[in-house]
Amino acid sequence: MAVKLSMPVLEQISAGLIQVSQRQGQLYPYPHNLQSGYDRVVLSFLLSEETEQVPSNLPEFYQHWCERPFGEWGVEVDAEVDLDNTLLFLGEPTELAIELAEAFGGSVLSQEQSRVASALLQRCRSHSQGVQLYTKFRRFIIEHPVLSDQEFLEAKGLFGLGVGLADLLEECYEPAPSCYQWQENFYACPYCHALTSVAYEQVIANPDCNRCPLGRRLKRKIKLPQAVLKLRRGIERFWFYPGRAEVRLYERFMELGLEVELYPSCDCYDLRVTFSDGEVWAIDLKDYSNPYLLVKRLGDEPIPCTPPWDLAYIVVPNERKRDRPAYLKELKTRWRWPNIKPMFDDAIFALAKKKVGFPFEETPQTKKGKEGRA
Ligand SMILES: [Zn+2]
Repeated sequence: MAVKLSMPVLEQISAGLIQVSQRQGQLYPYPHNLQSGYDRVVLSFLLSEETEQVPSNLPEFYQHWCERPFGEWGVEVDAEVDLDNTLLFLGEPTELAIELAEAFGGSVLSQEQSRVASALLQRCRSHSQGVQLYTKFRRFIIEHPVLSDQEFLEAKGLFGLGVGLADLLEECYEPAPSCYQWQENFYACPYCHALTSVAYEQVIANPDCNRCPLGRRLKRKIKLPQAVLKLRRGIERFWFYPGRAEVRLYERFMELGLEVELYPSCDCYDLRVTFSDGEVWAIDLKDYSNPYLLVKRLGDEPIPCTPPWDLAYIVVPNERKRDRPAYLKELKTRWRWPNIKPMFDDAIFALAKKKVGFPFEETPQTKKGKEGRA
């Protein structure tokens, strides 16, 4: 009899793994969710009488199993999960683990981000220039995954006097820990510009970098100053990574000469595009590695009806197609919002371009240039 692990078990384990990573990998005392998720794994093995393969204790499960793809666990997992995926990569929760933990009922990472988000909203709502300030702040985060001490001081000046957001900026960043140093220097990834990781005495792509294969060794890297600050993990995961696709799409719509608002009315959704005939599109970018977990997170009203729109889209960055060619098809099997369409970002751009009356096809040359700038 095959051992079956349900999604809720993986979700609970993931929630525990996030807690461990929040205390710099310190496993003991075991977080409740990790302990109980592990117990459920052991129980599944015992019930199936496949007792040779059972992980012998929690540290072994954490160090060896969680770093290995599900395909090597000797279990059956839900078809929604890719058998090549792991929950940890070099001790850090993977994108999948973060998404599973969110499905479990939120994680400490999303709490970190929502605390800053609600404080930012509250301050911007009571400020005369609030809507512009909100966008400026979010955009700054997206464009600055790392900052030197000097840049941080300047930024605090920019968001300080007369604006009152300097303390929130402080909550978004932390000094880069020394485990990110390689030969006494910090480096940034040339693709996403976030801090690189170090493993096996090499500089590798950040595990969250969705422009690079997981953990790829970086030949090209950007040397950073001695003292740098990096975004906190929750801010990085929920604002920085998806934000790059939001800003990229915003700029491409602007190039079409359209009227575009980024985070309209303090983030009711991501982009509001107005065409010359008065038609309005509402767009929300969602950057999830797993389409089923994305559907789970969308809720009853994925895009609020104000500020008003004629057509609404949930847009997924193109890069997701590379890892999961059936992404859109999988998304559509669970889609339950008839007035909102799921689409990739290149497709929505092509649609807008067609409506504006630009030639439909982009030349490979211009396309390459645009991606390089993202
Ligand atoms: Zn990167």
